[in-house]
Amino acid sequence: MTDLTGKLALVTGGSRGIGAATAIALAEHGADVAITYQNSTDDAASVVKRIEAAGRRGFAVPADAADAARVEEAVAQVADELGGLDIMVNNAGVGAMGMITDVTLEDLDRVLAINVRGVYVAAQAAAARMSDGGRMIHIGSVIADRNAGPGMTLYALSKSALVGLSKGLARDLGPRGITSNVVQPGPTDTAMNPADGPFAAAQRSFLAIDRFAHPEEIAAAILYLAGPTAAYITGTALTIDGGHAA
Ligand code: NDP
Repeated sequence: MTDLTGKLALVTGGSRGIGAATAIALAEHGADVAITYQNSTDDAASVVKRIEAAGRRGFAVPADAADAARVEEAVAQVADELGGLDIMVNNAGVGAMGMITDVTLEDLDRVLAINVRGVYVAAQAAAARMSDGGRMIHIGSVIADRNAGPGMTLYALSKSALVGLSKGLARDLGPRGITSNVVQPGPTDTAMNPADGPFAAAQRSFLAIDRFAHPEEIAAAILYLAGPTAAYITGTALTIDGGHAA
């Protein structure tokens, strides 16, 4: 079992979905965990309760990923309150759909502000505070490997950017023993992409395993990369997609 006893973790967008499952998994394996969220105060409080029920310290900080100053402040607050930072999971993100002819400049700026700029700023703030041997894990998407249909250009752009960001971080932070990797989920049953939603059947038709992932299955991969046996894995992507890109 992955032992994270004494580790200090931050999960952005930890109030729901993959982020919530990750925060709980990290705590159940010994880490103290802070989460950020945007609006879901009640959901965030429920996740904190689950962290505490695992016997760990937990707290939630509101921080809109599109607000760079607030993200920087939130990372600083988390590192101060936890007493350091060992694990950073850059998970907060939004979906985006629309044909290239319909997506506006405002859409482009909003999605990149959350899915790319917010991740960059959070990683930068975390790098300044992270202990040697730490872990950065960014939640991309299988769409960086395979864009299976129309209307996803902006989302694919935003998630593909994380691959380059993560490789750069791996180089910048490698001398400190800090790893940086991307986890690329395929269709995962969350509010963003429900397994019974209007686009679910089309997504399932691309899979080798004919079902959506459970958020806990993505969290398991994140947990592995956060753990001590993954110290030599850096600058790469781990795709958990039920065979979507096969
Ligand atoms: P959910 O919509 O279920 O949860 C999103 C989480 O991110 C929530 O905690 C939400 O906070 C937070 N969040 C959203 N926008 C912001 C923001 N502007 N600032 C701060 N926090 C924000 O999504 P998923 O769990 O499905 O997605 C998590 C990550 O996984 C995303 O990066 C997504 O792109 C990626 N992904 C998801 C896939 C899927 O099929 N579900 C597939 C591939 C990748 P709040 O609750 O306050 O709104």
